[in-house]
Amino acid sequence: MSAGLNLAQQEAVNFMQGPCLVLAGAGSGKTRVITHKIGRLIQAGLEPQRIAAITFTNKAAAEMRERAKSLIGREARGVLICTFHALGVRMLRQDGDVLGLKKQFSILDSDDVTSILKDAGGSVDSATARQWQWTISLWKNMGLTSVQAEAQAKDDNEKIIARVMARYEERLTAYQSVDFDDLIKLPLKLLQEHAEVRDKWQQQMGHVLVDEYQDTNATQYEVLKLLVGERARFTAVGDDDQSIYGWRGATLDNLKRLPLDFPQLKVVKLEQNYRSTSAILRAANNVIGPNPKLFPKTLFSELGEGEPVRVVDADNEEHEAERVVARIQSARANGATEGGGGQVQEWKNFAVLYRANHQARTFEKALRKAAIPYKVSGGQSFFDRAEIKDLCAWLRLWVNNDDDPAFLRSITTPKRGIGHTTLQNLGEFAGKYRLSLFASLFSPSLGSVLPAKAVGSLHEFGRYVNDLEFRARQTEGYEAAHAFLLEWLKDIDYEKHLFDGEDSEKLAASRWTNVLDFCDWMAKRCGGEIDDTAGVSIASEKKTLLEVAQTIALLSTISERETDQNVVTLSTLHAAKGLEWPHVMLVGVTEGLLPFKLGDDDNPTGRADGPMSEGILQRLQEERRLMYVGITRAQRSLAVSWTKKRKKGREMIAAQPSRFIAEMALEKASTREDPREKLKALRAEFAKKALESAAAAAASQAAP
Ligand code: ATP
Ligand code: MG
Repeated sequence: MSAGLNLAQQEAVNFMQGPCLVLAGAGSGKTRVITHKIGRLIQAGLEPQRIAAITFTNKAAAEMRERAKSLIGREARGVLICTFHALGVRMLRQDGDVLGLKKQFSILDSDDVTSILKDAGGSVDSATARQWQWTISLWKNMGLTSVQAEAQAKDDNEKIIARVMARYEERLTAYQSVDFDDLIKLPLKLLQEHAEVRDKWQQQMGHVLVDEYQDTNATQYEVLKLLVGERARFTAVGDDDQSIYGWRGATLDNLKRLPLDFPQLKVVKLEQNYRSTSAILRAANNVIGPNPKLFPKTLFSELGEGEPVRVVDADNEEHEAERVVARIQSARANGATEGGGGQVQEWKNFAVLYRANHQARTFEKALRKAAIPYKVSGGQSFFDRAEIKDLCAWLRLWVNNDDDPAFLRSITTPKRGIGHTTLQNLGEFAGKYRLSLFASLFSPSLGSVLPAKAVGSLHEFGRYVNDLEFRARQTEGYEAAHAFLLEWLKDIDYEKHLFDGEDSEKLAASRWTNVLDFCDWMAKRCGGEIDDTAGVSIASEKKTLLEVAQTIALLSTISERETDQNVVTLSTLHAAKGLEWPHVMLVGVTEGLLPFKLGDDDNPTGRADGPMSEGILQRLQEERRLMYVGITRAQRSLAVSWTKKRKKGREMIAAQPSRFIAEMALEKASTREDPREKLKALRAEFAKKALESAAAAAASQAAP
């Protein structure tokens, strides 16, 4: 397993007895260390089932599974490769009962959470509910309960949110549902409060590997610590300069704490970048330069100077998009001359990266116009489409009858003559007796609040769901599952529902195609043809439809269905983390977009005359890391573009190039310093400081 690894990488791979941290810049082969170490551990006799590798996204997990398979072969199948959230699902499915959670619990997506909060807050508007959602999520990530949140609330608004949080949590319990944050929080609770469960998992985990460690939050770190126990056999890899999820509660404290919590920690640093040319790497190092350093490090590349990084200016976004398209077309055609291996470049060699989701639209339109195939990653996924969410709501209801949001969506999609008033009365009844909506259906006293006809229709629906659930439990294999799903869609007349609800027939038809596509894909999972279940299971045996529905409930909320197509990638910078492309175009590198608006309206760039406030400074540092992540995705060529005008609300305002463009110091290419010389200087400085502080410590001890 040491082929294709440098000495430092080998050191990290071969150290298996205790805690190991690989700390290194972008493209230095950290993720490669993880994949190879999985192989090394198996070679050393650890059963694949006892190895867990944790990635940041499902997509990264899928990619790592592929790489592990080609490196190690079939044995890689047994290894658990998944996100922290998917690991959480696995733990809760196995042991959640000790927390009072039934096996078939539901996982709520963000829309479900918004609607529960709207309701719990006394019918507030969606914007307020989403703001609450944000705050509550942050609190949950910090490990606060609603009571603790209320006690430390900064103002009345926070007090209100804390009280809504209490009602929200009550409802989740009643619905036998968990939200995203619970997928980390509840496993932590399991490990903290239930010694027998903790022992079991510590036994199970022979070695845990964590990629993108810099973006873990406090709760995830606690989970990791408890999972590995005293033996502390784990490998974390990360780069403090790529920490870009501070806004979601990720904290660099986890990096700082590691050597303190694990004094025996082995730290390995990697310094060679294998991804990018020197020109690209220099721009990256220059941009990240002004940020404070947690650890001294620098990167060099031996891939040669390469093409200079280009700066492109455009009048506005549309113009920028045209220039991007032109660049892709010419780079593709020039592939034969510009060191492209004598061949036309493939579409998948190109990526367009931007700060915010909404920026994708203009580029999508331009690419369409030029007939260039593309995919938007990190944006709306297949599972966010309304028709797929409809179907998923039904599946969730089969799996967990008490999932109220799924109940409400299913009973009204398509409409079945059960009116709003009926549902409202049912809701009040359920609230009064602390029952789920489904459980209330069959309560003998329901007749006291609803007319017999309404009760009759509700019963009919309930029986239908029970019947579907019963049959789904017995349906197995592709053919049977496919037939079952089509019959069900016919039963509920879903195709008609789509065409009735959509003015454009073309749109309705494309939505119906999505539905059929979904059924086919579900059925394939029942037949064991698809073995990627977001890391929940990687065995490829036949499954029942109900079992598949259980994993869908998770996939529908956290997975992107990715296929390896030959298309241009459009992606947010956040979603591009860990990935690489030969040609990258970073767009919208305009003040106010990247860095994103830092100050207030009067001073949007945060460039006040006086010193920056601490808050603005921290945000600027995170934006700079984001820029660093963007630059370092490029392997061979990088273009950075900005626009002279940008949208602000409905207006167009004059705009400036991002300060990061100047910081890349592209024109100073001729006066560049050798990074290895710089590294030497940094090391010398570090050693000097260490000596000084040791001397100071000795002096203070010697003092009387
Ligand atoms: P990031 O910080 O962006 O996540 P990383 O440190 O995880 O980057 P990898 O993605 O593991 O870096 O590696 C970057 C590229 O360099 C990959 O294409 C990888 O295959 C290649 N690479 C890594 N190590 C070596 C090596 N020793 N020899 C050859 N190629 C390598
Ligand atoms: Mg990586």
